[in-house]
Amino acid sequence: MRLRKASALAAGVLALSLAATACGGGGDDDTISVGIKYDQPGLGLKTPDGDFVGFDVDVATYIAGELGYEPDQIDFVESPSGDRETMLDRGDVDFIVASYSITDERKEQVDFAGPYFVAHQDLLIRDGETVPNEEGIADLTLCSVGGSTSAANLAEQYPGAGLEELGTYSECLTGLENGTVDALTTDDSILAGYAAQEQNQGKFALAGLSLSDEYYGVGVPKGETERRDDINAAITKMVEDGDWQAAVDEHFGPANYEVEPAPEITETS
Ligand code: GLU
Repeated sequence: MRLRKASALAAGVLALSLAATACGGGGDDDTISVGIKYDQPGLGLKTPDGDFVGFDVDVATYIAGELGYEPDQIDFVESPSGDRETMLDRGDVDFIVASYSITDERKEQVDFAGPYFVAHQDLLIRDGETVPNEEGIADLTLCSVGGSTSAANLAEQYPGAGLEELGTYSECLTGLENGTVDALTTDDSILAGYAAQEQNQGKFALAGLSLSDEYYGVGVPKGETERRDDINAAITKMVEDGDWQAAVDEHFGPANYEVEPAPEITETS
């Protein structure tokens, strides 16, 4: 009898959780789905406890708050660089805050709010190795992520350089540590986060090159202009009330990464 009760209860719980799953994706009235990175310390990181920390996480949480969602109503979803446009297009997420540079090519598929941050492409090398100058890059084998501006810029500016394209930057970091590549190239904001991680102390160094300007935007599905305008208003408010600077200090301070002032919002039409 007790057993039957327990299994009836279990079935009830299962039905409830199935219902919750069924309406979880893409966000219903109760939750909002936000794409972030899971493996970029300083920006977006999923901790072993299942928490999410980083500057992009704070920006996303602030924006969601302005849109009327409490932190426990946010459903964070991993959005790897090569999947971001597709995820927005399919409605897997409501918006994306994931070191996502605004580019004309991407704007053919998605809309952006922002920008809310500026970074620059650089190289991460093994500590103690010679810092390559810009001409020396063509002789290196580099690792970057498919679908990123980092891989595209490198291929365009240094067609002679070797380029290994993987799914995430943390996979590239393993290659750099193992010696299968000479450098990892992406935004300095991301590289500084890896270099500062406790387990990486003394292992890696940034080359200090500024190979591009990367203006981070908040990706929204194409045509959602009202949502974009609301997000622009949220970013402006976050900067004005000091929460933007507080998040910068908290998440980039430990990496000694010098952040540029908040950029002007440009994505208004
Ligand atoms: N900001 C660049 C981009 O959007 C590189 C970082 C990333 O892949 O997220 O492609």
